[in-house]
Amino acid sequence: MIEVKNLTKKYGDKLAVNDISFKVEKGEILGFLGPNGAGKSTTMNMLTGYISSTSGHILINGKDILEQPKEAKANIGYLPEIPPLYLDMTVDAYLNFMFDLKKCKLPRRAHLDDVCGLCKITDVRKRVIKNLSKGYKQRVGLAQALINNPPVLILDEPTVGLDPNQIIEIRSLIKKLGKKHTVILSSHILPEIQAVCDRIIIINKGTVAADGTADEIAKNITNEHKMTMRIEGGTHTASDKEKIVSALRSISGVKYVRADMEREKGIYDYDIETDGKTDVRREINKVCRDNGWNIMMLQLSDLTLEDIFLKITMGENFDMNSEKKESKPRPRINLVSESDSGANDDGDKNESEKKADKKTDKSDSAGGDK
Ligand code: ADP
Ligand code: MG
Repeated sequence: MIEVKNLTKKYGDKLAVNDISFKVEKGEILGFLGPNGAGKSTTMNMLTGYISSTSGHILINGKDILEQPKEAKANIGYLPEIPPLYLDMTVDAYLNFMFDLKKCKLPRRAHLDDVCGLCKITDVRKRVIKNLSKGYKQRVGLAQALINNPPVLILDEPTVGLDPNQIIEIRSLIKKLGKKHTVILSSHILPEIQAVCDRIIIINKGTVAADGTADEIAKNITNEHKMTMRIEGGTHTASDKEKIVSALRSISGVKYVRADMEREKGIYDYDIETDGKTDVRREINKVCRDNGWNIMMLQLSDLTLEDIFLKITMGENFDMNSEKKESKPRPRINLVSESDSGANDDGDKNESEKKADKKTDKSDSAGGDK
């Protein structure tokens, strides 16, 4: 649906977006996650044809945004960082104005009713926009983006400045929209992206630092994987424990097993470490099934996405794309993997990672420049 190739933007000498490439498939909700100043808005402004790129290509539904701007833009609804609202207009007048501006051919009344219903602004349609709360204003901005039913929605920090209730509402609205539209949304807040998006691109200093699902990103950063399991044996006694430990140890790819506390009566937790190359979960299931044991819990205890986000955005020498641009030795951690092609084979912990591990500041805008 969207294809971005080697996209670069310079503001004078300042490189705001540096050679980024990615694809977005139809129906995906993609999150751009990055600290302030990472280049999210600049990328979105280029995607929507609002500003031009310095170099690179953007195809929206097969149409180049610079060569066929009209056709490409017809596919996009955009909610910029600051919603383009005419504050002195009523909601109705504004949406009608946008309807005309977009030369929308859909039946006017029914379409606007639909859009207002979806964005839950039906009850404020007669109100002047400047008198609305920030949450309502944001929903009017979303409604504007939805006019003409564009297949692609691009939403720049849609929940910034909203209170927690409004944030929850906008998030659930975006999820709903994601069922019918391809959505790209940006945020500097990790839980937000995690709550809404199918896939995440972490942008840092104008480059793509990681691309994948939250799990994939978390999995690819270390080559050691840990999990905790709770397994119910046959007899609810300590002898279960020994049998289970030895069965788990015999699974190929398992490096280490330790029985932990008795968490429920006669049921123990087991800490398991794998070589990081083998996904042992299916085999563990099989072993348990064969022995008549029950898995009561399985918890992967790899680095959380938050740890990774902090590492990427705060850690020095943590440019994930360093390999292709620099020849001097740098940490070789490649988070960007299109497939499970073993991109994590060379992720040994190094000094900069250890340093990043120690950092404890967990502010939302870690590493920002504002
Ligand atoms: P984000 O949306 O991730 O916070 P932006 O895309 O707004 O980041 O900005 C990326 C970088 O480009 C920042 O360093 C910012 O200061 C710079 N920048 C953004 N817009 C302009 C502009 N119009 N002129 C010069 N520099 C800009
Ligand atoms: Mg921005």
